[in-house]
Amino acid sequence: MTDWQKLDKKYFMNTVERIPVTLVRGEGAWVWDDSGREYLDFVAGWAVNSLGHCHPVVVAAITEQAKTLLQMSPKYYTVPQIRLAELLVNNSCLDRVYIGNSGLEANEGAVKLARRYGALKLNGAYEVITTIGSFHGRSLAMTAATGQTKYQEPYSPLSFGFTNVEYNNIEAIKVATTENTCAVMLELIQGEGGVNVPDEDYPKKVREWCDEKGLLLILDEIQTGIGRLGTLFGHQQFGVEPDIMTLAKGLGSGVPIGAFMAKEKASVFTPGEHGSTFGGNGLTCAASYAALKFIIDNNIAGNVQKAGKYLTDGLNNLQQKYGCITDVRGRGLLQAIEFDSDIGQDVLTACLQNGLLINCVKPNALRFMPPLIIGNEEIDRALDILDRVLSGLTD
Ligand code: PLP
Repeated sequence: MTDWQKLDKKYFMNTVERIPVTLVRGEGAWVWDDSGREYLDFVAGWAVNSLGHCHPVVVAAITEQAKTLLQMSPKYYTVPQIRLAELLVNNSCLDRVYIGNSGLEANEGAVKLARRYGALKLNGAYEVITTIGSFHGRSLAMTAATGQTKYQEPYSPLSFGFTNVEYNNIEAIKVATTENTCAVMLELIQGEGGVNVPDEDYPKKVREWCDEKGLLLILDEIQTGIGRLGTLFGHQQFGVEPDIMTLAKGLGSGVPIGAFMAKEKASVFTPGEHGSTFGGNGLTCAASYAALKFIIDNNIAGNVQKAGKYLTDGLNNLQQKYGCITDVRGRGLLQAIEFDSDIGQDVLTACLQNGLLINCVKPNALRFMPPLIIGNEEIDRALDILDRVLSGLTD
C-alpha cells in the first residue's frame, strides 16, 4: 500500500473497497497512476467521461468560465445554465429542464415532480413503481426506489411510496398499479444491475400502460443517456418517449452535474417547490454545454454505434474461445460479459496488472463502459488483455 493509500484508509469514511491504484492523470481513454504506469480506461469514471479524460473542449470551457463567474444563487439568471437548458430541450423530446449536481439528485427531483403531478392531476396519487435490479441512487428515497436489497437492508425502514416489481415484466407493473400510483420509473437497460437488456417490446408496453392509466413514465437515462447506447438518448432506440427523463454521468464528461427534464404537461413545479444551492452552477453548466455540443456536433453517438459493434464482435469471439463466458450483452458502449462462476474479481485484478481498468458489476459479470470516443485500436488492446487474462485463468 502506498503512502497516499494509507492516508486514504486512515481519513476517508469506510464506504468503498478501493482498487489498489492511485490515479493522478488522464488523457482520452488513458489514465496514469502515481508511479507513472498507464492504464486503458474502460470504466471512464463510472460511465462519466463521455469524451474521455480532460477533453480539450471541456478543459477550455472550464478554464474560461473559471475566469468569468463560478457560482451565483439560483435566484439570478445565468448564461451557462440557459445555454445548456436550451441545448438539451432542442435536442430531445422534452420541454423543460431542472439542473442539479448528480444522478441521485436528478432522480429525487423527478420523483418529487411526479408526486406534485399526482397531487394536482391524479387525485393525490403518490406511489412510484420501479423494477427489481434497478439502480436510482443512494439517498433514502432512491434507496427505496432502487430494487436491490443490498442497498436497502442496511437502511430500513425505507422511505414510503415505492413498489419494486420484476423487470421486463409488464404484467408485474399492471398488477402493482393502484389508485395511488402516479408514475413508473425505469432504466431501459439496467446498468448497475448487470447491464440487463429488456425484450424489444417491453418499453412500448410500459408506455402504453402509462398512457392507458394516465401515469407518468420516468426514464432514468443517467447511465444510458448522452450517447452511451449509440443514440443521444437510450429511449430513441426503443421507440418510446418519457414524460420525465433524468440525466447525469456523461452529461458533464467529468464534472458533477445532473438534470431532469419533463414534457410541458408534467412541468408542474411552481417557484419554491424545488431547488439547490449549486444547481445550475456556472462552471459545471459551461463544461457540460461544451461537452454536449461537441457530442452532438460531431455525431459521437455514431462512433458509439460503430465502436459498440466492434466491441460486441470482439467479446463474441472471446465467448467462442472461452466456454466460461456464458453471455455477452448490452448496447453501444454499455456492455457486459457473464461467466459461469464468480471469477469477475479475479479477472478484474489480472486485467489491472496488465494495464486495463474494467468494472466487476456482479461477482460473475464484467461491465465495459469506455469513453464514447474510443477507437478500434484501443478496443483491440482491451480485448487482447482480456484474452491473455482469460487464457491464464482458465489454463
Ligand atoms: N441512476 C442510474 C441509472 C445510475 O447508474 C446511477 C449511478 O450509477 C444513479 C442513478 C445515481 O447517480 P449518482 O451516482 O450521480 O448519484
